[in-house]
Parts: sequence; C-alpha cells; structure tokens
Amino acid sequence: MNEVLRIVPLGGLGEIGLNMMLIEYGDSAVAIDCGVMFPEPSMLGIDLVIPDLTYLRERPGRLQAIVCTHGHEDHVGALPFVVREMPVPTYATPFAHALVAHKLEEHELVRPLERFRAGDSWRVGPFEIEAIHITHSIVDAVGLAIRTPLGTIVHTGDFKFDQTPLDGLPSDLRRFAALGDAGVLALLSDSTNVDRPGVTPSERSLTARFEATFRRARGRVLVATFASHLHRIQQVLDVSATTGRRVAVLGRGMVQNVEIGRDLGYLRVPPGLIVDVAEARGLPPERVTLLSTGSQGEPLSALARIAMDDHKQVRVEPGDTVIMSSRIIPGNEKSIGDVINHLCRRGADVLHEPYAGLHVSGHASQSELQLMLQLTRPRYFVPVHGEYRHLVRHCGLAADMGLAPADCFLLEDGDVLEIDAAGARRAESVASGRVFVDGKGVGDVGDVVLRDRRHLSDGGLVLAILAVNQHTGEIISGPDLISRGFVFEDESQVYFEHAKEAVLEALAALAPESRTAPAEVKEEMRKALRRYFRKTLERRPVILPVVMEL
Ligand SMILES: [Zn+2]
Ligand SMILES: [Zn+2]
Repeated sequence: MNEVLRIVPLGGLGEIGLNMMLIEYGDSAVAIDCGVMFPEPSMLGIDLVIPDLTYLRERPGRLQAIVCTHGHEDHVGALPFVVREMPVPTYATPFAHALVAHKLEEHELVRPLERFRAGDSWRVGPFEIEAIHITHSIVDAVGLAIRTPLGTIVHTGDFKFDQTPLDGLPSDLRRFAALGDAGVLALLSDSTNVDRPGVTPSERSLTARFEATFRRARGRVLVATFASHLHRIQQVLDVSATTGRRVAVLGRGMVQNVEIGRDLGYLRVPPGLIVDVAEARGLPPERVTLLSTGSQGEPLSALARIAMDDHKQVRVEPGDTVIMSSRIIPGNEKSIGDVINHLCRRGADVLHEPYAGLHVSGHASQSELQLMLQLTRPRYFVPVHGEYRHLVRHCGLAADMGLAPADCFLLEDGDVLEIDAAGARRAESVASGRVFVDGKGVGDVGDVVLRDRRHLSDGGLVLAILAVNQHTGEIISGPDLISRGFVFEDESQVYFEHAKEAVLEALAALAPESRTAPAEVKEEMRKALRRYFRKTLERRPVILPVVMEL
C-alpha cells in the first residue's frame, strides 16, 4: 500500500497561540495540542479564539487522539471545544492532566483523559508515540517522537535547554541524540525566540536577583506571575523562606495551581510558610510576600483589583514592592501599563520587564534551536509555534546549519506537507482559521459581526423609524430618530430636526412607484442620513432604517 504521511497544522503556524498540529497516516490522525489564542483588542467582545475544525468535521472518525505537550492555555485551552464534538481520548502529563480535568469539569464534559509521563511510549492507530522530557516555563512539559510507517517525526513542544532547572531535571538531550542517530524524518521545532541570539538563561539565574530584591524591600513584596509556572512559584516560596517572609496566595488560578502543585509533589512548601490573607494582614509588612495572578493585567485578576483598590482584603501602600515576573504577551501592553500606573500612584515600587531582570523566558534561543537541529539531524524541517517572521528566521537558521532549503518547509495554518517514499512536498491546503468564542456562542460571531461591532464602537447607532401608508406610500409619521453612542441626545435634537428634513426631502424626490417599495424607501433614508451626518458632523454612525407599513 502506498500510503502517505501528512503534516497538517490547524493553528500556531503564523501566530503565537492556537497550537494544533495533525499528524496523519492514511485515514488516521493524531492531534498534537489543542490551544487557544487570546483575542486581539480589535476583536470586540470576543472571549477566546480557537482553531477552525472544519477539516476534521468533514472527515468523521479520522481523529484518534489528542496528545498535549504541556498545560499552557495556548496548547490545551481549546480542548473542551474539540472533545465536546469529537470525544477522542486526550493524553496529558500529570500536571497538564490536572489542569485539563478542571477545564472539562468547568465545561461539564466527561471525556476520556489519559495520563502519561516523560519516557512513556504508547500506540495510537498507526502511530507509536514517545514522550521526551524537556524544560519549559511549566513543569511536566514534553517533546514527542511519533513513529510512523514512513519514519519518525520529532515535535519539540515548547522548550528550552535549561541545564540547571530548579527540579534538577534538564531536558533529555540524550534521547533526542539517540533519535537523531536512528534517523529523524522530520523535525517540528518551537520558533518563539528564534530572534534571540545565544542561550536563554536558566530559571535558577533568577534566585539571587529575587533574593536581593526581597532583602532590599522595606514593606511587603507582591509577586505576580503565571499561575502555571510552578518553578517560578517555588522560587518565590524559597526566597520568602530564606528572607523570613510568610506567603499569602491570591487569585483563584493561583490558589488552585498551588494546591495541585503540592498534591502532585511539584511544589515543596515548608510547614507554616503559606498563611491565609487574613493572617498575613496581622504580620509586619517586611515579613509578608503576596503571590498573585494578574501579570498580564487581566481586569478581573487579583493584581488588577489591588491596583484599582478594589480588592476585599489587600491594599497596596507606599513602601510595598510589586514584581511582575513574566513576559508581556503582545496585545496586553495597555492593560499591563494601566495596572502599573495605578500601582505606582499608590506608592508601590513596581519592578517589571524588560528592565527588572526578574523573569526568564521558557523558550529556546538561537543556540538551543541549533543544538536541537544538531541532535536530531532531520531529513525535513518544519518550524512551528511562531508568527510568520519567526518561521522564516527559523528556516534561515536551519539552512545556515546545512539543511537544504528545499528540505525546510515554511508552512502556515492549513498548509499541508505530504511525505511518501518519493520524498516530501507541499499538498493542497485545507480549511483552517480562527473561530471566535463569545459567551456561550462558538463560531456564531464571524468577521462580518466583528466589522459591525467595530463600526458601532466607532460611530454609534442611529435608528430611523418611518410609518407609511402601504397603498399610497404617503408618510403617516416620522421619521423618528433614536441614537446610541452617537451624540448626547439633548444636543442631538437640533441635528436630528435637520436630519429629518433631509430625509423628507429625499423621499419627496422619490418616484411615486418607489414610495410603496419599503426596501427602496429604506435605502433612500439610509443614504440621506449618511450624507447629512457626514457633511455636518463628519461622523459615520451605523444607520438602521425601519419602515412600518400601515
Ligand atoms: Zn508553553
Ligand atoms: Zn506555547
């Protein structure tokens, strides 16, 4: 049988987020990750963005399983939306498993959820999947080796080569080298930090800086970081213990993950170190650390509430030090800036990136990416997890290392790489894209609705209501004008009077047979109002004409 192997990215190639990669052989597919993207500011009212599943939907039964490389939202966030429709088993490492289980529970879904550990191998359809330990900004992250009848595909997951990780478990370089010796058909590698020369610093390099900052702080220290970053959380706990501070944990996600981390043995917490917020309030400020969510300025997070002085238990005061220990995810600059402004106004000393040196990335820089290529020596190379510019640069990096440019494939979402005995080539693209989640609606808000929302938010709305005689077209009443988000209703009266006249004038000029055609009357009203508001106010509200035939 001359079957082909297909690599089908449904998300994550062309953006940071939305990661979902299909590996297909014959009629079987396994998905690597299933993530969300957070909405851009122009996506008004959108809560989440998930990958378009049309391709899988049109091929029922093809997807056999989903394997998660780690528990970050851009890798597991879309899972509930996918397994709701396609109830295939999901495989995850223990920490990711706990996070996914929570998610499924929140969505009231019962779906098969399997646990694996780095070093495990198992079969899914025609594939043999092996998990390889790598270091990243979350515990329990893995790369994958997927053995197929045509050769082995290595997917790095999100990784860096931290040689001195806090838990003493560096990435399994030997396994990658062994795979390289045995022959790797294709390498799919993380491109996030391809722009950064050298090596990403170790998590451990932060310990001394945290300690110095904690010792210098006169009052309380509040650290905001990602709730899933257990190693960063461990640093905060350790440094608090050595500098004589107790730690109070704030924010639902942080409380949940500290608990999961303790249960699974990833967090070592000395007895008595963690206290509740009420107890922390009774301690001298220089004996208190607060550990909180909200490093991205999320409006409902503990940190944002504290910054706005809207938190039930915690107030920031002069003398407090706030550490934002995370990178700024593009798109969040404004909300993070707002939070920092508010904290500064309350007298806090705010330390944040890129100045503070109290964060290191979880992604490999150039030298590590080169090492990954060196170890695995793939026949074909596909950069993943990046915007287009990152993917281009990563291809360049591979070419610099001697890979033939024809063997480096710059794929975007929906582009398909087909491999068979004769070699690898690009095949016809498949449906892909972004699906918006707004409240309980999935996919019912598309580009047209978003354009309307943008238009409404730019210019507001004017509703024009006209009553006409259905037989003669004679105007019985109106047009009545009502507006929202357009201009102060009080001040609008004079404009609206003139606008009404403009509409009546336009209607009077209509041919008699058009007056009894509501669609034409509406269009005439719309045109007249658009013209009038543009001329007098230079504004373009959304105009909604209504014609009632009596
Ligand atoms: Zn990640
Ligand atoms: Zn990621």
